[in-house]
Amino acid sequence: MPEHRIAGLRVHVVSIPGNAEHSHGSGDVSGINAVLLELATDTGLTGWGEASPWPVFTGTVESSAAALHVHLRPCITGADPVQAELVMARADRVLVGHPEAKSALECALLDITGQIAGLSIAELVGGRQRESIPLSFSVANRDFERDLECVRELWRDGVRLFKLKTGFLDHGFDLMRLERLRELFGDEIGLRIDYNQGLPGYDAIRRIRDLEAFRPDFVEQPVKRHERAALAGITRAVDVPIMADESVFNPEEALDAAAGRIADIFSLKTNKAGGIRRSLEVAAIARAAGIGVYGGCMFETSIAHAAGAHLMAAVLDPHLGCEFYMSTYFAECDLAETPFPVNGGYVHVPRGPGLGVRPDPDKLARFRKELLT
Ligand SMILES: [Mg+2]
Repeated sequence: MPEHRIAGLRVHVVSIPGNAEHSHGSGDVSGINAVLLELATDTGLTGWGEASPWPVFTGTVESSAAALHVHLRPCITGADPVQAELVMARADRVLVGHPEAKSALECALLDITGQIAGLSIAELVGGRQRESIPLSFSVANRDFERDLECVRELWRDGVRLFKLKTGFLDHGFDLMRLERLRELFGDEIGLRIDYNQGLPGYDAIRRIRDLEAFRPDFVEQPVKRHERAALAGITRAVDVPIMADESVFNPEEALDAAAGRIADIFSLKTNKAGGIRRSLEVAAIARAAGIGVYGGCMFETSIAHAAGAHLMAAVLDPHLGCEFYMSTYFAECDLAETPFPVNGGYVHVPRGPGLGVRPDPDKLARFRKELLT
């Protein structure tokens, strides 16, 4: 007989305004819309996980909430929380897709298992290879002067990695911003580029070559998710490393991407892969193929950030940092009881046990749009 059983499941749909509108090659975002999953055991333990879909990227909060509340509820209720692999296999049998909802479920199970074992999630999934991860902030405002103010403020906080969101206005605007940032901050700034699928495949190589003069660390997802041959062609043609984000969600896509060498780096996201362990499978495929990894995220609260931090702490090889800045620098207010641990330009991996971050009940009530029980 299992010592613990999942006795209750609550689905919180939340909406938190952001402090600025962020623009991307695939659309604008002005806040965080997420689904928090709360699991309770019959022994008094509680575990948390988060689904943070983006409609133009993954899915919707409505479908994530329904996935958990309606379709996955029967395979969660009564389950043994320490048997995450078994519960996730059941979830895959009753519901296709919905990696964000499944990521929330796996995280909540691992949160409980970690509390039982007295270990952080990073330790549960293989060990803490590092205690802190360099933070990258995304520059994504149509008003570049406002972004510059923001970059200066973050620079004072110790942030040295900045990812320019490109491809939402014109090529000249992208080049101008890169040039200004390189001029103002010299070699000390790590510049990255993310097109969010915003470049036309037929003219991507020439535009990326223009950007190479400003020595970006990498160029992320220049073309559409399904344009894999174009992505592979770009990766072969240019010197700057190319990162796949939208084109690589899960281990199956990672295997195909590695075989065709469509990119030099994969962006890992628990919400894309369907959990921390599936993301580690993507990292393992990347490692075997000599492909780098990066800690990406969706528009999310510190619950999903914490899951990402445990993931990136457990990845064996050094990597290109992470972007878990939303709860510190984007959300009007974060939901966590204690601030998500960002300082000196680094994310500090929560100590645990389990996830090591949980929502504050008052803040959760303030930003909750719907509660499904
Ligand atoms: Mg991206």
